[in-house]
Amino acid sequence: MAVTEPADSPRHVAVIGAGWAGLAAATALSGRGVRVTVFEASRNLGGRARRVELDGKPLDNGQHILIGAYRETLALMRTVGVDPQIALTRIPLELRYADGFHLRAPRLPAPLHLALALAGAKGLNWSERWQAARFMSALRAARFHYEPDLSVAALLLRERQDTTLCSHFWEPLCVSALNTPPARASASAFAAVLRDSLAGSRSDSDLLIPRTDLGALFPEPAARCVEHRGGEIRLGTPVHSICASGDRFTLNDDAAEYTQVIIATGPQHAAALLADERLSAIRSQVEALTYQPIVTCYLHYPETVRLPCPMLGFTGGIVQWLFDRGQLGGPAGLLAAVISAEGAHRELPQDELTDRVHREIAPQLFRDGEVRTPDWSRVITEKRATFSCDAGTLRPSMTTAVSGLLLAGDYVASEYPGTLETSIRQGLAAARHITG
Ligand SMILES: Cc1cc2nc3c(=O)[nH]c(=O)nc-3n(C[C@H](O)[C@H](O)[C@H](O)COP(=O)(O)OP(=O)(O)OC[C@H]3O[C@@H](n4cnc5c(N)ncnc54)[C@H](O)[C@@H]3O)c2cc1C
Repeated sequence: MAVTEPADSPRHVAVIGAGWAGLAAATALSGRGVRVTVFEASRNLGGRARRVELDGKPLDNGQHILIGAYRETLALMRTVGVDPQIALTRIPLELRYADGFHLRAPRLPAPLHLALALAGAKGLNWSERWQAARFMSALRAARFHYEPDLSVAALLLRERQDTTLCSHFWEPLCVSALNTPPARASASAFAAVLRDSLAGSRSDSDLLIPRTDLGALFPEPAARCVEHRGGEIRLGTPVHSICASGDRFTLNDDAAEYTQVIIATGPQHAAALLADERLSAIRSQVEALTYQPIVTCYLHYPETVRLPCPMLGFTGGIVQWLFDRGQLGGPAGLLAAVISAEGAHRELPQDELTDRVHREIAPQLFRDGEVRTPDWSRVITEKRATFSCDAGTLRPSMTTAVSGLLLAGDYVASEYPGTLETSIRQGLAAARHITG
């Protein structure tokens, strides 16, 4: 893991932002012997996927889930010393809903695993199973590529997918993967995710649920790795301005000079750093992005409270997925209810939202009728959890009109929606662009 930075290294790269994209870039650069300094505005590593402390409890800013197809993320976790087999619970694709719908992929090679999962799905009739198989064939025939303006809802309609199939399978997959309602979501981005998961190898569609907090999963070991290799991580150091002069950059009017700068902030913070008049076109693209929220409601019940499985789906209310943290390396009785994307739930005050969540999930927790209320609860709302991955959205490119100034992050142009894997890939791509 240790790579000694050559004393005469001509490059010194500034990375702005210690989220997963910035830390991926810094890890890759430092691994190639490039001097790197990471500037992070907050006191914490990890950005939108970080550990938080609530009432003394170490939790995450939101429940995250990875899939087997997150190759770059899993590889980089290994590079920084995290063993994904220990840090993540790996479950073969299984979608189990409170209303009885149940789809489970057997441990068989692709595409048999999907065919048998659909054939054996409880809650789908034969016509719907056939439609789902037909949908995957249509995606393959289209080479998982659609016109940029086509929405997921329009694609499902075009491929004549029935209501139950949409409400229990395609739509939850779309909202979970793209954090965007199907009526707005890009069919092209959805197809790219399905290509690499359901239509990939069997292990690509596995669900990987963190057993550690998000800080320990990648950001903290990555920062240690960068420092070990001679790089510097400056927490609590926001960058307010970037000045390009000749082939050098300075930040915040400081004297230190950098050969390249990677802006790895979220898009809402990137625009302010693109003040140079040559950057007006890309700045307008960044400013035109819109956002989607994710709400995580943590509830702690008595330790005996347990779900029938680590992850349970819900339809017809506000809760979409419920995670039993007790079965995922956390304290027994701790549950995390996730509500992705925009919706009526955003109008509810926090205590009403918590009450609604409790009432929706209670029948699954207290089957003997003796309902207990949670002894502790907290709601975390990330208003700008990801950019809205809408059909027709123009995403800014990694390179800019100023040579040596690059963008990295989940919103930068790629076929993927805003995910951890996108951030990691974009961070690595920016590093590769610099080192060649
Ligand atoms: C609640 C929630 C749930 C999610 N669930 C999933 C999931 O299940 N699976 C999945 O794959 N993805 C999920 N995501 C998306 C995923 O977390 C993001 O795509 C990813 O973390 C974005 O990382 P990033 O590095 O691109 O940007 P960020 O995480 O936004 O990192 C940018 C960093 O830059 C810093 N910064 C900003 N401005 C400045 C400045 N001027 N100077 C210095 N530093 C600055 C910020 O403080 C931040 O640390 C979820 C996101 C949220 C919020």
